[in-house]
Amino acid sequence: MPVAIATPFQTLAEVSETIMGTTKRLEKMEFGGTFLSKVSSEEIEVAALLLIGRPFPRTSQRTLALDWRALNQILEELLQPSPELLRELFAQSGDIGEVVHQLFLQSGKIRQSTLFTTPLTIQDVHATFVEIADAQGAGSRKRKTGLLRALFTRATPLEAKYIAKLLVGDQRIGFSEGMLESTIARAQDLPLDLVRRANMLTGNIGEVTRIAFFEGANGLKKVKLCAFIPLLPMLAAQAENVEDALKTHGGQSAFEMKLDGARVQIHMQRQNEHARIRVFSRRLTDVSASLPDVIQLVETQVDARSCILEGEVLAEGKDGRPYPFQHLMRRFRRVRNVEEMVHEIPVTLYLFDLLMHDDEVLIDTPYSSRRERLVALRGDIALVKQLVTTDSLAAESFFDESIKAGHEGLVAKRVDSTYQPGKRGKAWLKVKRAMETLDLVIIAAEWGTGRRHKWLSDYHLAARDPETGEYHMLGKTFKGLTDVEFEDITQRLLELKIEQRGGVVTVQPRIVVEVEYDEIQQSPTYKSGMALRFARIKRLRYDKDPSQSDPIQRVQELYDSQFERKASTNRVGKT
Ligand code: AMP
Repeated sequence: MPVAIATPFQTLAEVSETIMGTTKRLEKMEFGGTFLSKVSSEEIEVAALLLIGRPFPRTSQRTLALDWRALNQILEELLQPSPELLRELFAQSGDIGEVVHQLFLQSGKIRQSTLFTTPLTIQDVHATFVEIADAQGAGSRKRKTGLLRALFTRATPLEAKYIAKLLVGDQRIGFSEGMLESTIARAQDLPLDLVRRANMLTGNIGEVTRIAFFEGANGLKKVKLCAFIPLLPMLAAQAENVEDALKTHGGQSAFEMKLDGARVQIHMQRQNEHARIRVFSRRLTDVSASLPDVIQLVETQVDARSCILEGEVLAEGKDGRPYPFQHLMRRFRRVRNVEEMVHEIPVTLYLFDLLMHDDEVLIDTPYSSRRERLVALRGDIALVKQLVTTDSLAAESFFDESIKAGHEGLVAKRVDSTYQPGKRGKAWLKVKRAMETLDLVIIAAEWGTGRRHKWLSDYHLAARDPETGEYHMLGKTFKGLTDVEFEDITQRLLELKIEQRGGVVTVQPRIVVEVEYDEIQQSPTYKSGMALRFARIKRLRYDKDPSQSDPIQRVQELYDSQFERKASTNRVGKT
């Protein structure tokens, strides 16, 4: 058997450049498919992942945990670029990969040394990424940067570009995971649905690529849902109101209360006396270590050999009202002294779905049967409150009940719907209480990065105190504007510029914007003690001047009114 020659990382970088060079989807797929068909079975998993700009599979718990600062430090050590050159390169391109590429091209030093080292292979790059991710504990940052420095020392300018892109997670060649699925299907003449399903079940597009290229349709058909590999959560689209939801669902929906907690997917497998249980967050991070109480509850209550459960974890006060989301997050971030936290912030688990039961996969089973089976096996664990109805009045009063109890609203679920991992479709519709928008004033703005690097695109939002004339910052956002609006507002803000420090331009407070948000949170950072959660600009209000914007006192009132429905933590006082 001929020995496969290891694929140089340079080849992958060149293919990526070719893919980036065309906007035609079919051509992109052709280039990607041809490349993948040439790599060996040992390399193909890594090749596929790196091609879509991922160091690791979606379901992997590995993260590089190195940021732009670390990259910057290494570039400085290796290439000593002048600040002027860096500034100029950033002004030309907001793409960090391209900046690194140019820096390498303009530095003879590195280039010469690469002539004498062995070329990097895709396996080398991947193995180094694994080592970087696995470096933990004391001294890990030094070890990580050391590994990365060694990698850059061996890289050609083009390779350095793609290493940097992988590092910062910004690939930008227009080749997404979805396009890779289509590429695999086309290249191997397989049904796209089969490829998609295998990817959904394994959460590892690299592995799916290998199976598709080396085992074909039969291999893909054998792919099964396994406990301990988290599935992407199914998501909900937005509905205007309960009536709208009922109409979309053909007259009947199962309405569930929408709890403002943290979503969890719980995997359990029992063997003899022992139960193995892992809890994954919405982003598929393993959060088991911070939730020993949830694990114990599942172990003692759930009547099953194996299962995958979904639910929401909520922190509640003594009166049963939920604490603000922020409070709960303190539990999730905690890795040390967990036991203390379990007492300080007790949590309640509310279940709402069952995706696997005793090794039987249920994602293709209708919602109503999944719920029935969930009811039967959950023991004493609470279920998310549910109402199945055709009556919009009944649904509306259920909505009010949910809001009064301090929750976010409802999720309407189609009773015959299957569970579609990762999809935000109409089978699930969220109905939320509309938050009153706020008219706020822009007091500063930051130059954007990437695609937005030519614009002032991150806006500091503030509310005025009419009594003192002072502006109180409540948050930042870059969300909500079109490209044309970015362009326009950048010009206007520059005309109002007071000074620039770093990338932040302070402006005269003149521009009013209408802002939507999910919640007003307690903030240790801002002087007002309040911050907007998920702020986004709804409209530019050039028609308003700051004297017509919402005063800080109104923000405080809204903040206080939120707490009438929530359990109380230490609330901020008046500003
Ligand atoms: P959103 O984050 O606004 O897109 O809403 C989706 C989120 O609502 C999910 O990820 C869950 O964390 C949360 N959620 C709360 N209650 C439910 C429920 N009964 N069913 C599904 N998701 C829920």
